[in-house]
Amino acid sequence: MDIQSALEKGQSILIDNNIISAKLDSEILMSQAIREDKKFIILNLHKEVKKRDIDYFENLIQERAKSKPIAQIIKKKDFWKYEFIVNNNVLIPRPDTEILIEQALKLVKNKNRLQILDIGVGSGCILMSILKEKKNFIGTGIDISNKSLQISKVNGQKLRINNRLRLFKSNIDNFNTGKYDLIVSNPPYIKKSILKCLEKDIGYEPKQALDGGLDGLSEIRKVINKSSELIKRNGHFIIEIGFDQKNKVKKILRNKGFYIKKTVKDLSNHDRCIVSIKT
Ligand code: GLN
Repeated sequence: MDIQSALEKGQSILIDNNIISAKLDSEILMSQAIREDKKFIILNLHKEVKKRDIDYFENLIQERAKSKPIAQIIKKKDFWKYEFIVNNNVLIPRPDTEILIEQALKLVKNKNRLQILDIGVGSGCILMSILKEKKNFIGTGIDISNKSLQISKVNGQKLRINNRLRLFKSNIDNFNTGKYDLIVSNPPYIKKSILKCLEKDIGYEPKQALDGGLDGLSEIRKVINKSSELIKRNGHFIIEIGFDQKNKVKKILRNKGFYIKKTVKDLSNHDRCIVSIKT
């Protein structure tokens, strides 16, 4: 079978299983199966694919047909300027979360040697993207999940920032180490009741990274409480929020002594991020 016929077969299986991005996904999985980039695929549509690679490709298509996210199948995801290793123990980095990086970099433009804390570090995408841009910043990441810390450790090595990175397994309530110039967090903020109804894809990701309790704000509250203790005076705090949480989160922040600098909308024009400063 040549590349084109295999791609079409893959695509039609995905369409039959209601996968919206069937064509693109078929190409990505082919690229994984034959270990070549997309350009090679487009330029070599009539090249024969080895039987072994076809079998591998078909297995990957079957996984995608069950709605497993592409990033989990190919075990990586691009975020900001870097590629992060992911698996089913970490939230897959979302393009919308890149606005936290943009905001952080604006704030620290002329700063040196800042201490940054990422609460719920997951894959490490937020903390590590900032550390890569700011060569003399020191980062601390905490997470409640040991399995996610294994992934962030690998990403720290891959991005060669291990000498400026400390990772701790800790529940937010028990973490009392250090004082930080900048705290960032993308905590779980989805309401328990809504979590069940969300797209099929999300079911493959760790609930612990998504479940914000009954009102969606239970983890956000804890993160803000603890950040108000761990942050230096005039330090900045940047948090990702759900599209309908802006006013409630602003109130929680003000009650803990934060001044709201701005809220930022995501690519779909939803409120997604609050930038605040500890007064
Ligand atoms: N933005 C994510 C989603 O909609 C949720 C991430 C989170 O709970 N922190 O899937």
